[in-house]
Parts: sequence; structure tokens; C-alpha cells
Amino acid sequence: MEYLVIAFLIAVILILMQFKSRLTKTSRKEKKPAAVETGKPSKFCPLCNSPLSRGENVRSKVYPAGEKDSLMEVYGCPYCLPPAGKENRICPVCSKVLPKDGYVIGRYFVKPGKRHLHILGCTLCRKIK
Ligand SMILES: [Zn+2]
Ligand SMILES: [Zn+2]
Repeated sequence: MEYLVIAFLIAVILILMQFKSRLTKTSRKEKKPAAVETGKPSKFCPLCNSPLSRGENVRSKVYPAGEKDSLMEVYGCPYCLPPAGKENRICPVCSKVLPKDGYVIGRYFVKPGKRHLHILGCTLCRKIK
């Protein structure tokens, strides 16, 4: 009788292990596109050029959202975004240091598997034009 119970328990454990491995396999599959979504870990902030690791994201706003060709306002990364960020936010177009309420504007293209941001200017140099 005891042997039967042990055999039954082993069978249950085996089933559970298979179930677990299936779960980890499916979660791995789910994680892969998410990693592509967040981009490569070796990102650089377009404003202060700080290398950004995973989870450190550049704060930005896209409008109209979801369009293939839209505009993006880039505010900065955790290293340069005021008040916590200490790095200077430099406009890649006019190379001026952005004021606290300033930001950079760019055209944002979404192509299958690719995202491209073309920076047009900041609140300082876009006003002049
Ligand atoms: Zn930055
Ligand atoms: Zn500028």
C-alpha cells in the first residue's frame, strides 16, 4: 500500500515538473518580444549621452500616439531629467543646454521591426525658425 502511495506521489511530482517546465517555456516566449519592445540594453540618452541600462528609459511623449509617422517630445533620462538628473541636457541640433522646462522635438518613424527618431530641434532652436 505504501509503495503505491509513493509511486502515486512520484507520478504527481513528475506531472508538476512537466507543467512547470511548460510554464517557464511559455513565459520565456512571452518575454522575448517584450525585450525587443524595450529595445537594446545599450541605449544612449539623446540629450546627455548617458548609457542607459534596462529599466532606465528616456522620458518622452509621442503624438499622435500609434501613428507610423508622428512627433516625439523627448524630456530626458534619469541622469539628466530635472530635478533629479544632474547631467546637462544638450540639444543635438543647436548644442545649447536646455532650460528646466525645455525639451527636444523629433520626428518618430515606426517601421516593422524598426523605430527611428530624427531630432528636429529643441524648444530653444525650434522657436527661432
Ligand atoms: Zn539623459
Ligand atoms: Zn536646439
